[in-house]
Amino acid sequence: MAATSLVPFFLLVGYLSVPARAFLPRVNLASGDSTTLDHTLITKKGFLKPLIYFFRDNPQYLRGEYLTGFLYDILASESPTAFQETVDNISPQIQFLNALNEIQTANVEVDSFPLNTSASAHFDGEQFKQGSKRLIQLRQELITSLLQGDKLQHARNLAGSALHTLQDFYSHSNWLELANPGPYDVLGKPGSEIPQEFIAGPTEATCKSCTLEPQSGLTDGSCENNLDTVKLTSGYRSGQDIKKPENLRKCSHGGRSDESRLKPAAGGINKDSTSIKQSPHAR
Ligand SMILES: [Zn+2]
Repeated sequence: MAATSLVPFFLLVGYLSVPARAFLPRVNLASGDSTTLDHTLITKKGFLKPLIYFFRDNPQYLRGEYLTGFLYDILASESPTAFQETVDNISPQIQFLNALNEIQTANVEVDSFPLNTSASAHFDGEQFKQGSKRLIQLRQELITSLLQGDKLQHARNLAGSALHTLQDFYSHSNWLELANPGPYDVLGKPGSEIPQEFIAGPTEATCKSCTLEPQSGLTDGSCENNLDTVKLTSGYRSGQDIKKPENLRKCSHGGRSDESRLKPAAGGINKDSTSIKQSPHAR
């Protein structure tokens, strides 16, 4: 089995184990912001762990001698250098990097038309059931595609698309603000569902208005404590198929591209970038 044909297996492992943080499609969308991890970087970093586990267990796919102890060391550090060193020892590495690039490209594509208008593809507008369903469907489609022997690019596209949605769960919902200690293992797991009682109901208020700058309408940091619920919620965003309900004090996504930030509750809760103007809950 060639190393390139193993890549989907990293996906299967990585699919449920990728720790997610916050995320613009590409970092340059956050102007002047070099500290934001975008979707492509998060996806790449998320591959490191399953990749190293795989080669620890299957060293025959590495070029030359590669000591297990060394793999443990880089697993502990998870640095970009370690990632590069691992990749450098994969044969053939060009095909591997191309495969990774296909996954990253499919991930970013979710922020383009038409998927950018689908609230569930980004866990926006409290579309938790629908977003979870999307993850399970993509996962099943990916496995079926591999079993049928379809072209691997199809599986990579599905993986990239699913990873985007999974990453957005953490940057668009209040999962982190609810002080949950780690990833939500229900997501993408067949037969598992987010319990209805965890999710804010359709008429339940979830946010208080932030103070908006009079000129720009952007938030100035006053959104720090704008959440007003102990249940799971996510921001509504203009330009999507699910509109922000009027006068129910639901949260917005926020940021300059989201017109819904001006409707009550004004402001937003996204953590897509480290820029407070773009992401009211930047951290
Ligand atoms: Zn997104």
